[in-house]
Amino acid sequence: MTTSAPVLVINAGSSSVKYRLIIPASAEVLADGTIERIGEHGGEVSHETGGETHSGDHTAEDIGAALELITEQFATYGPDLGQLDLLAVGHRVVHGGPDFARPTKITDDVLATIRDLSGLAPLHNPAAVAGIEAARQRFGDVPHVAVFDTAFFAELPEVARTYAIPRELAARHRIRRYGFHGTSHDYVAGVARESIKAAGPVRQITFHLGNGCSAAAILDGRPVETSMGLTPLQGLVMGTRSGDVDPGLHSYLHREAGLGPDDVDTLLNKESGLKGLAGVNDFREVLQRRADDDHDAALAFDVVVHRLKHYLGAYWAILGGLDQVIFTGGIGENSPDLRAAVADGLAGLGLAVDPDRNATAASEARLISADDSAVAVLVVPTDEELAIARQTAALAADD
Ligand code: AMP
Repeated sequence: MTTSAPVLVINAGSSSVKYRLIIPASAEVLADGTIERIGEHGGEVSHETGGETHSGDHTAEDIGAALELITEQFATYGPDLGQLDLLAVGHRVVHGGPDFARPTKITDDVLATIRDLSGLAPLHNPAAVAGIEAARQRFGDVPHVAVFDTAFFAELPEVARTYAIPRELAARHRIRRYGFHGTSHDYVAGVARESIKAAGPVRQITFHLGNGCSAAAILDGRPVETSMGLTPLQGLVMGTRSGDVDPGLHSYLHREAGLGPDDVDTLLNKESGLKGLAGVNDFREVLQRRADDDHDAALAFDVVVHRLKHYLGAYWAILGGLDQVIFTGGIGENSPDLRAAVADGLAGLGLAVDPDRNATAASEARLISADDSAVAVLVVPTDEELAIARQTAALAADD
């Protein structure tokens, strides 16, 4: 192995595949691509390399065909995978269930276990399995590594991961709080910790705010709480997901509105959140409508902020104080309005955002709190692909 050998990172979803070719040590991105709308009309492919983006249509029907398309993109536009000393392939896998607490080299048995976990993540794990199978066929001579969204939270303390339901039932059906976005929370918290020399354990709250949103409380690098649960539906308000609701809502909707379990699932996962409140799931549109005095958009913004404050206060209590708050994800990195609103009124917790620092856009990690703020507030751009590439390289190096 050479330290300049690249890792191919693959993130296979139900109708799209994203991929990135990265040199883990230097973080250099050699190529970056997306295949959207697999098996649907109007499929789009985009491959970026050497500062140029090559876009076009495709008719890939499934993930196997999409992987073939990826190799064609590399063959046509480069870099030439045959010439590169590819180190390994890293796969993002959403659910590792109770079985995977760390990145894992993929064998037939590992793949079978990931497939068995599909009941816990019916939308995500089958796509990851298909992506892994297709990639192993194409790139069979290098190690493949699965990096799980849940792994960082595998060691959540028992009090945090336990739902108050009958224990035997929970054990039989593997019901616990798993947590998601773990690769991102771990990565941004690590970057933020590098910025301080702490005398004692560092107490951090990370907010990953994108289409999906989650919060985590982290004590000295280890997670002690997170807002997502058995599924990625629990917690914060998201683009189309409700986040926390009264669990009694399900049976109430069944009785009062005649909705079945799948209807409620669809309602809370696809029709709720920003979309349910303001009619649009894109936060930029919510901001625009709010600026145009749209009442629903203003309320949606306020509900998002209210829930974020709720978690911030709860995690402050669980951590016994706070050293850093970190914002990341498309919303967390790009919306000064949202960050200012969350921090507003929290001087009593020792938290003050500096308006100029907060308003300054940048693509690097940065401090946005005031000099006299006891709690450091940071914006740290997430890079899940780089984190996956590095974890994959570390395991591949063990060969
Ligand atoms: P992600 O899933 O991390 O790509 O984040 C997607 C979310 O980030 C969407 O709701 C976008 O509207 C939001 N977003 C992206 N850019 C901005 C921006 N400049 N200001 C506010 N929200 C943004």
